[in-house]
Amino acid sequence: MSDALARLRGSFRSSRLDARRIASTVEQPGCGRRTLLDAAHVHLNDLAQLLGAPEARQSPFAITRGNAFERNVMADGMAGLLAVLRARLGMAITEVRQIDLSAEQVAATFGRSTNRVRARLTLDRLREMLVDSPGSANLLRHPLFAIEVAGVTQYVEADVLAFVDRGSLQIVEIKSFMSLDGRPDPAKVADAARQSAVYVIAMQDAAVSLGFPSSVVATRVLLVLPRDFTFQPDGHIVEVVSNVRRLRRQLSALPDASALADALAPGVSLPSLPTKGASAMELEAARIQAAAAVGAIDPRFGDGCTTCPLFRFCRDESRAAGSVAALGSAIAADLGDVTTIEEALALARGERLPSTPAEQAVQAALGAALDQLRRLEAG
Ligand code: SF4
Repeated sequence: MSDALARLRGSFRSSRLDARRIASTVEQPGCGRRTLLDAAHVHLNDLAQLLGAPEARQSPFAITRGNAFERNVMADGMAGLLAVLRARLGMAITEVRQIDLSAEQVAATFGRSTNRVRARLTLDRLREMLVDSPGSANLLRHPLFAIEVAGVTQYVEADVLAFVDRGSLQIVEIKSFMSLDGRPDPAKVADAARQSAVYVIAMQDAAVSLGFPSSVVATRVLLVLPRDFTFQPDGHIVEVVSNVRRLRRQLSALPDASALADALAPGVSLPSLPTKGASAMELEAARIQAAAAVGAIDPRFGDGCTTCPLFRFCRDESRAAGSVAALGSAIAADLGDVTTIEEALALARGERLPSTPAEQAVQAALGAALDQLRRLEAG
């Protein structure tokens, strides 16, 4: 991470980018604010809360259930997972040769477990699998891959990577949402497909860096889900090739985060997150500093913002500025380079002369609408 990005986050709580967050950040195209805060690993939910949003909570029941399901699938030498691999991928495993590359396992084996170390180990194991070295693994647990997002290297960890007999690398994702009567929730599957596309791209880039074609990575992802209300695993194949194409386009369109951070004034920095016992004055001082830092970064407010943790802050900011963006992306696009509601109304009422062809078009359209409205009111 560049010095400028580190300076922006200061000592605010961090949270690394995972596949879910990467899939989410590319859905906010052109928003320098979101790009920068993600690249700086700012904990967005904590920041949103400090700025006045309600606390975002994940159900503790769902977390416990998800962890219990994963443990169950992996128990007894991965018996549950292997059954699904055989049934869904035709993976005729006679001998499981798995390597655990989780942070805990790597730390226990090598004494340290930085992202770089784990990503290097993942690449080494991947090469062995692809050249089919004697004794190489056929399953990698928690492999870590590097991926470039807005010009910054991020790391994503897949659940399992399987080397299928036909010679392709297969992403396996263990999710805790249910498959009811063999039919999982389509919205959750679509969400999982967007995340899996991040892993596929990271793995394709890893394979290419090792001299293999990207086609060694399967774009059909295996989702392992709890069957009905049990902890029994069910497998669902999801084709993510269109997600991969879209995500590659979105990633290549992201601005360079370090360059955006370099352009910020030197004093723009988030505060430390106030502790639980902080006084009202300390909280307010931190909120003011956070609002100033976030406000110093250009947003692009629009319809896609509703899923962003900073939605409330950016919406209120947009309304307070009288920005046409607060009226929705379609209206903002129609108004072209007329950026405030006040300017648009002045053009419509003829109180201001248009200075560009776009303003002339806006004046003609809004003026006609206003005349129509007046006729309706009069008649
Ligand atoms: S809510 Fe704000 S930070 Fe999030 S994408 Fe929209 S404009 Fe950007």
